[in-house]
Amino acid sequence: MAQTNSSILSDFIRDIIDEHLRNNRFQGRVATRFPPEPNGYLHIGHAKSVCLNFGIAAQYGGTCNLRMDDTDPSGESLEYVESIINDVRWLGFDWEGRLYYASDYYKQLYQYALQLIKEGKAYVCSLSADEIREYRGTLSGPGQESPYRNRSVEENMDLFERMRAGEFEEGAHVLRAKIDMASPNITMRDPVIYRIKKEPHYRTGNKWCIYPMYDFAHCLSDSIERITHSICTLEFENNRPLYDWFLDELRVESHPQQIEFARLNLSYTILSKRRLIELVERGFVTGWDDPRMPTVAGMRRRGYTPEAIRNFCARIGVAKNENLVDISLLEHCVREDLNERAPRVMGVLKPFRVVIDNYPEDQVEEFDCPNHPQNPGMGSRKVPFSRILYIEQEDFMENPPKKFYRLAPGKEVRLRYGYFIKCVSVVKDPKTNEVVEVHCTYDPETRSGFAPDGRKVDATIHWVSENHSISAEVRLYDRLFQVADPTAEGDDFTKQLNPKSLEVVTSCRVEPSLANAPPGSQFQFERIGYFCVDPVASSHKVPAFNRTVTLRDTWAKISEKGKR
Ligand code: ATP
Ligand code: MG
Repeated sequence: MAQTNSSILSDFIRDIIDEHLRNNRFQGRVATRFPPEPNGYLHIGHAKSVCLNFGIAAQYGGTCNLRMDDTDPSGESLEYVESIINDVRWLGFDWEGRLYYASDYYKQLYQYALQLIKEGKAYVCSLSADEIREYRGTLSGPGQESPYRNRSVEENMDLFERMRAGEFEEGAHVLRAKIDMASPNITMRDPVIYRIKKEPHYRTGNKWCIYPMYDFAHCLSDSIERITHSICTLEFENNRPLYDWFLDELRVESHPQQIEFARLNLSYTILSKRRLIELVERGFVTGWDDPRMPTVAGMRRRGYTPEAIRNFCARIGVAKNENLVDISLLEHCVREDLNERAPRVMGVLKPFRVVIDNYPEDQVEEFDCPNHPQNPGMGSRKVPFSRILYIEQEDFMENPPKKFYRLAPGKEVRLRYGYFIKCVSVVKDPKTNEVVEVHCTYDPETRSGFAPDGRKVDATIHWVSENHSISAEVRLYDRLFQVADPTAEGDDFTKQLNPKSLEVVTSCRVEPSLANAPPGSQFQFERIGYFCVDPVASSHKVPAFNRTVTLRDTWAKISEKGKR
């Protein structure tokens, strides 16, 4: 089972579990579950819940089930089920064969509903959806009882069975729990527990045309699986009395404890399946796995690692109050992890030609370059050096301002892992007067990276050899939204999309060692950022690299400020 850096965590949920273990509430058992509805891909908020539920099970030597909460045929699909299974496994968690489906409990849930009817605790209501809403009342005023509330048990049994048999149209009747229309908690005002839906379900097909509501199905699914701690997000706090009501009235053997925590909100991001679906369907992104998406699939394709995501989830912790987590903390965790594991390479995004006049035309040297300067264990590779190189366009200026330390006419710089070179002349395009290449001389005495006479240079720049480097496509991803809270400004969050969230650079040159880099492999392009070989676009003629994250760490700056 996956572990995070801080594998022993403490928070209010773990405190509750400790208390239950002390008073033997569940005979020493700890059983959790992660219950996604397969109506979309998992996002980073779900990852928080995955880490929490599986993390608690691992910490207490308990179990965590993966349960598809598939009680609504609209929008659910096998594609989503498969993506969820794949994503939870990729995050590093194992449900040890306990993969369950709420749709497998339909029959038992139906029996529970019959039991409530027989005991006079549920009735078939024939008000329309609008009427039910009207009768429900408001936060300040009580509701009104349905005229169908006092149907006899026989009539209710008959109608409910005929609902199941498909005799009625959608909306004609619903089954409601008979609780209290005057309850101060609106959730308890005779909630609907079954509705007619004549839509095929991706697993049960047309077998059922009535489907249980979330509140009814969820607590009973938990009970059937003998879950001890049913952890959910805060918006279900008002539903807890109903959760307990069903389990108490049905006198089930196993009665889990529902515990609510604050969902993850992340700046510059949207974490609502409904809105993410909209981004996919309206074509604002290329799919659920677009590297700009906050989905697990998107983050994986972008080059985020499961370790970085788990570490992020451990660092944000769990709390009772909603707050907004700064996305730069997530980026910081990704950088921190890739800094350790990503081999260093050289790649030039916008190539600029450099000719070394005094270097022999046919000569090629192979420089032995460390894959990780701080970790000799990661070995080294050969990088060919020759007379004509490419450097980064922005590393040269013809008329540099005072503080420009890189290459300029008359200036000397160090080539990473190589010689000092000095710019002696420039070649201009006669039409545009733009500098198109520069000529340099190299100092053969500086092969070690230092000059025997002790003279210093102000900068070290990266480079590739023109004849030996290979072409590559690089996708520079940035944040998907341009404002911290994309849903704040009125309704259309798509207006807040960052128009510069993707820049594709097609004429890049990278060192030859990258020719056969496997899909998904990760690198630090020195001085530029972390990149991974796009795992999807393997059919490309040239390798395509996704920028995972830049080298600049705004989070480090923020937390530094906080300390002062
Ligand atoms: P959304 O609001 O995005 O539609 P959901 O809550 O409807 O999400 P589910 O598939 O029901 O999605 O979620 C599965 C589990 O993940 C639930 O236990 C839910 O509480 C949890 N979860 C969903 N979003 C978040 C979030 N932002 N932070 C933490 N946990 C979350
Ligand atoms: Mg939900």
